[in-house]
Amino acid sequence: MSETGIIWLIVIVLFIVLIHMRSSSGKGWLGEREVALILYDLPMDEYKVIHNVMLQTANGTTQIDHVVVSVYGIFVIETKNYKGWITGSEYGERWTKNVYGKKYQFLNPIRQNYGHVKALETALGVAEEKFIPIVVFLFDANIMVKTKSPVVYTSQLRQEIESHRENKLSVRDVDEILNKINSLNIKDSKVRRTHVQTIQRDIKRNEEIIGQGKCPRCGGELKNRQGKYGPFRGCSNYPKCKYTTNIMLGNEQKRSVSDGVIWQQGTNFFEKRK
Ligand SMILES: [Zn+2]
Repeated sequence: MSETGIIWLIVIVLFIVLIHMRSSSGKGWLGEREVALILYDLPMDEYKVIHNVMLQTANGTTQIDHVVVSVYGIFVIETKNYKGWITGSEYGERWTKNVYGKKYQFLNPIRQNYGHVKALETALGVAEEKFIPIVVFLFDANIMVKTKSPVVYTSQLRQEIESHRENKLSVRDVDEILNKINSLNIKDSKVRRTHVQTIQRDIKRNEEIIGQGKCPRCGGELKNRQGKYGPFRGCSNYPKCKYTTNIMLGNEQKRSVSDGVIWQQGTNFFEKRK
């Protein structure tokens, strides 16, 4: 290949990389890398980091982005690569992201992460107060929430972790917990794939049921309603069934699903599509 040819090749490759980095999935990937790097940068003798933990629970499998085990407690970290203005409260069922005036709802990540804490609590037999859940928003988010539980930007993560200096576990506890997580963590790539497939199958099934105008939770009729955050569909059996969805029919349906927020049937957790 001529010299000019090589230069052109480099230019084209750089261009593709740049385009990918600018896309939201590229940014999400970069953001995840950044979180991983921050965690690896913590003093290694004090903080043990495990990424992408998948556990078996009574309701199926649950996936946790990062777990950091230290004598200061077990940090359970949920990352969100959502864009826009993020509003919500500590206990509300849903939060809202506003992207250029378009509003989307997603499950309150504090509640989602609390589900992860509960799964770890059960699996490890460690009391809830030993856990420190943290929600981290990656690029492009403006966090507008007021919560007791920490919800931080990537740049604040290290400071947040290091602000917890009260001894909660012994060095021996830390070792035992690490061993236990490692033995419980599902490493089988088939099971991991099934986890993703199950979620996708559940979305599909939910979409079909919703597409027929029925509530996927109780089979009741779905009614169009106007809420504070725009139109949504709610179950006619309200208040007995509190199911709501912002999944509309046709193109609307496709958009809210491709938006990366999906609902797992039978649980209260939204899972991020990987
Ligand atoms: Zn219902």
